[in-house]
Amino acid sequence: MKSLDRLIKCFRRLQGVGPRQAERFALHFLRAPESEVAEFTDALLKMRANVHYCPICFSYSEGSLCEICSDSSRDFGLLCVVEEPKDIEAIEKTGSYNGVYHVLHGSISAIDGRGAEELKIKELVSRIENSEQEIREVIIATNPDTEGESTSLYLADILRGLVGKISRLGYGMPLGGHIDYMDELTLAHSLKGRTKI
Ligand SMILES: [Zn+2]
Repeated sequence: MKSLDRLIKCFRRLQGVGPRQAERFALHFLRAPESEVAEFTDALLKMRANVHYCPICFSYSEGSLCEICSDSSRDFGLLCVVEEPKDIEAIEKTGSYNGVYHVLHGSISAIDGRGAEELKIKELVSRIENSEQEIREVIIATNPDTEGESTSLYLADILRGLVGKISRLGYGMPLGGHIDYMDELTLAHSLKGRTKI
């Protein structure tokens, strides 16, 4: 059955989805009412058409700028660098940060062969250089694992001289952990206890 196999193949492309699960997903849509299938395809197409990277911070956005970059009450002199858009959500949940963000879309990884040029680092440097408002501090909030640490060292190296203060999330960060898995209190403490590097 060509059509069914084609759909199963599509689901197999999703990270973490094995052959059995892909088949279950496909059969779900085979048995589901037409309206549910239509809603699913519509949601997928609309998401692709409407969601794009914010041209300033590279988080996801539906408008021209994301909600944070277009919020004039944020402190544009304080810039927090994260690996992924979901890390922004985690930090926002703490309610203890009012600066803006920059999303790298990954970390430097020797094992996966991912170099600095694949991340939004050039964009970060040009953003800092061309910022109307002086950026007082860059907080490096990459994950506290091997890749996150290498990325942090690399960033600190190239940002030195461009900004007055570079800091790294500190206190209470579990080694090898991920920012988006951390509870709000731990993350709030890490923000407060950030150390100059
Ligand atoms: Zn933005």
